[in-house]
Amino acid sequence: MESAWQLFLRQLASPDLQFTHDDVCGWSADEFEALTAAGLISEMALATRVVCDVCEADHWERVRWSEDGKRAYIVCPEAGIVDLDLERLRQWKCCLQQFAGRISKALGRGEVRPVPASRLWFLGRHRTAGHNPHFFLAAIGPDELPTTIKAVRQAYGRVTAMLFVPFPSPTSTEDGKLRMVDVGKAASLQDGQIAVDLEFIEEQFGDSGALRVSAKQPPKPLKEHRRAILRTYMEGHQIHNMQALGTHLGIEASILHAMIRGDTSKYGDTRLETMLRRIGCSQAKWDGGPKPIRRS
Ligand SMILES: [Zn+2]
Repeated sequence: MESAWQLFLRQLASPDLQFTHDDVCGWSADEFEALTAAGLISEMALATRVVCDVCEADHWERVRWSEDGKRAYIVCPEAGIVDLDLERLRQWKCCLQQFAGRISKALGRGEVRPVPASRLWFLGRHRTAGHNPHFFLAAIGPDELPTTIKAVRQAYGRVTAMLFVPFPSPTSTEDGKLRMVDVGKAASLQDGQIAVDLEFIEEQFGDSGALRVSAKQPPKPLKEHRRAILRTYMEGHQIHNMQALGTHLGIEASILHAMIRGDTSKYGDTRLETMLRRIGCSQAKWDGGPKPIRRS
């Protein structure tokens, strides 16, 4: 089952930014508290429409109120007058501006500027992988991507940028100058705080040969191969980002990224062996790739 945090992220891609009481009912108290404490959702006025939960038809009905304003009910074509539990009329909305601010803060900034387009924010710049890219957040669906990229370009020109979007996306466009990243892969919610996986972000830029070439880095196919191994493991264990994987394996996410890169200055052989044993992957498989790598 998806967590409240994932549902929140998914909702950002939808034109409807609200959660009904029926939606929220499925969340644990902790999840609800975490989203509320981070200011990512806030309660709105009571709903004026609600789904009938008495008959089979799943129809929406207008909420009507008794003359004294104390009793709410709907009229179901089948069951007639159905009294409503007032709790069911509570609803919450996603606070986009707040979310943008939290991500910006996690990047070490905090300045958030709406870009003249709906649901698009500039989050500031953050030095990473030898670059100083512009960061943006767009609460949009995949079909709105082309117009959103255009809006970024109109406002900021052809800058090197990372655009967070709430869905899996093609990673880069325009010769790698604009990188798109699923915000759910880069950010996580822990104890009411948004954390951003800076290593992961760095990798998005570090991967591009045009942007940075480091002698330490193995060629891209091997990194992709290793990342795919971890991804497969994560999918099998309902782990949603590298930070959570780190917690799960008892290894810092930055070390996991170093293992992907093969940067042995950050970890020892034993540590890698232990990690591979935990995820059930042999050393040979880890070092293999789409094409076998031969050392002579
Ligand atoms: Zn009904």
